[in-house]
Amino acid sequence: MNHDDLRDWAKRAADWVHGYYASLRDHPVRAQVQPGEVAAQLPDTAPEAAEPMEAIFADFEAIVPGAMTHWQHPRFFAYFPANAAPASILAEQLTAAMAAQGMLWQTSPAATEIEQVMIRWLRDALGLAPHFTGTIHDSATTATLCAVLTMRERALGWEGLDKGLSTSPRLRLYASNQGHSSIDKAARLAGIGQANLVKVPTDKTLSMDPWALDEAIRADIANGYTPAGVILSVGGTGVGASDRIGPCLAVARAHGLYTHVDAAWAGSAMICPEFRPLWQGVDGADSIVFNPHKWLGAQFDCAVQFLADPTPQVRTLGLRPDYLETLGTSEITNFNEWTVPLGRRFRALKLWFVLRAYGLEGLRSRIRNHVAWAEELCEAIAALPGFEIVTPPALSLFTFRYGDDAATEALLTRINDDGRIYLTQTRHDGQFVIRVQVGQFDCTREDVMSVLDVVRELASPPP
Ligand code: PLP
Repeated sequence: MNHDDLRDWAKRAADWVHGYYASLRDHPVRAQVQPGEVAAQLPDTAPEAAEPMEAIFADFEAIVPGAMTHWQHPRFFAYFPANAAPASILAEQLTAAMAAQGMLWQTSPAATEIEQVMIRWLRDALGLAPHFTGTIHDSATTATLCAVLTMRERALGWEGLDKGLSTSPRLRLYASNQGHSSIDKAARLAGIGQANLVKVPTDKTLSMDPWALDEAIRADIANGYTPAGVILSVGGTGVGASDRIGPCLAVARAHGLYTHVDAAWAGSAMICPEFRPLWQGVDGADSIVFNPHKWLGAQFDCAVQFLADPTPQVRTLGLRPDYLETLGTSEITNFNEWTVPLGRRFRALKLWFVLRAYGLEGLRSRIRNHVAWAEELCEAIAALPGFEIVTPPALSLFTFRYGDDAATEALLTRINDDGRIYLTQTRHDGQFVIRVQVGQFDCTREDVMSVLDVVRELASPPP
């Protein structure tokens, strides 16, 4: 295949994409295949001779779409959304075609500078204070790891990087039990250890209790530990719980600790001023992450980390060997020094396209609709006999039960085997609950209310 062929096939792929989106509602949302079914259709070894693109594309059509869970399906209400707005898909095509590596300013000046401008656009769009700067990572997991590594090194006077951790003081991190597992992963990978991630009790609003945080830090200091940082959540994954950011940050600051706020999902909603009380006080954080690749329409991968001061993170993560020097200047921003991998994709392009193609007003109206429709759906499910709302809508996420654990799980299995909608589960207060999140970029009120029809139809009388 050469570049002339690529032009023809790109047109054909564009037609396929159009048809795919047009027919999504006709397909089950969650893949209905069994493990191993796809692999069994592929040869055991790579072909020795080149194959015609016609055959490759035919196999793609025959094997792949039917074995995918359709994340862009308008009736996808599982996990959190991973939206890909059409303008984002277009930008990703261009990014893929240029296939540039954005590790240094000089390896992709446009990528670096558009990234810097997008960070400023988003900072202002989310109502954050003007002192924040930032970068774009692949994932919130990476951003949280970067923040936790920075907490570690700041607490160790930047000695861990050189000496390792074998003789270092015992560090402590603090988060609530509503925090995402990426916080646990960061504690493990940073060499701090799961056992040193203190899960601070929550109050009845599911926020970390600031008094309990203060007590935990004081007790640790008294017991010879070295507190390193606090990780707060806005819109936790299970049931959308949020910590009271201002009071918790005040405690962290009083103890001189570095702070990171994980707003991976809910951060996008902060483009709507009326939702900002949810992270009141966030301007006092050292680091904040949110994923435009969840709710804003810039597809995976795109996680924005805002930093009050990038210096500690760059000091932790930056390395500049001879072969990565930019001759003639040392002042330029080289974003690889702000993150873990050296190589970086041009992720800012899709943000630039999305923010311009829909405008902040267009994006706000989508998010406002999602929140309003989730509330309407929640009320309707609450009115069904045998159904119980376990957690009310946090933005556009709520959870419900239908009888006991076994009956609720059986209902969820029936729903996802049916395929018209896709819901997932979590445990809350030890109970199995079904999560509903509304957030797919192109879903309609009718799509959302179809959840009511499906659960009513598939529910059997509660035991
Ligand atoms: N934090 C929260 C609250 C999340 O919901 C998720 C993923 O759903 C993550 C972090 C991890 O996000 P990523 O897949 O970008 O690492």
